[in-house]
Amino acid sequence: MCADHFQTHHWADSHRDELTTRHTHEDALSEREFELLLEACKRLPEPKSYEAQLICLLAGRLGLRSGEITHLKKEWLDQDRDLIRIPQSESCDCGYCREQAKQEAANNEELTFRQAMADRWHPKTANSSRVISFDVSLRVELCIDRYDEFPKLRSTINRRVSEAAEAAGLTGRVYPHCLRATVASFHAYQGVPPVPLQAMMGWNDLSTAQKYIRISGAATAKAIRNVHH
Ligand SMILES: [Zn+2]
Repeated sequence: MCADHFQTHHWADSHRDELTTRHTHEDALSEREFELLLEACKRLPEPKSYEAQLICLLAGRLGLRSGEITHLKKEWLDQDRDLIRIPQSESCDCGYCREQAKQEAANNEELTFRQAMADRWHPKTANSSRVISFDVSLRVELCIDRYDEFPKLRSTINRRVSEAAEAAGLTGRVYPHCLRATVASFHAYQGVPPVPLQAMMGWNDLSTAQKYIRISGAATAKAIRNVHH
């Protein structure tokens, strides 16, 4: 096979991947679906009801990742200023952190398990350490005001979201990360500019925020309207 032929194939493959890969933004819920999900949380028995509401609002209105919800502590909350501060690291030896540290040490000869654990827990990237205002709505504020730590395993977080989705009769795939896509789409549609959107979501690349804004179409429509009217 000549080099040219190989390259053509390679290009075609990556192009096809780009077209067929399922992106998280495609799993974003509509605002209607998100409201149905929250209504369904309220119908679950306590304490599941509150846990499910908190998880759905933290992920679906504030953009927290499940790892962040799992490790959320009362000290992260600034109730006076309505802020959540996601730290650069937090000491933790939960099963998930131990598993991650074990994998890191296995993939890096210069890193011991103990060294990897010293850095656990930390958010996904350096940009994920961030401050998020939770006064976006009274509903979010009231829910966070009631927050008291509860034992949160990643599996519990996933289960609460699935239980609420099932109670809401939502048929598509509903999982914590698609709630993050939901809030990103929501803010993009409302016209939040790329830089604050990136800061809120803790993305490394500005291009991710730009992608959500482009897909929402709201900014494009507004810019075109401004020119013509
Ligand atoms: Zn942990």
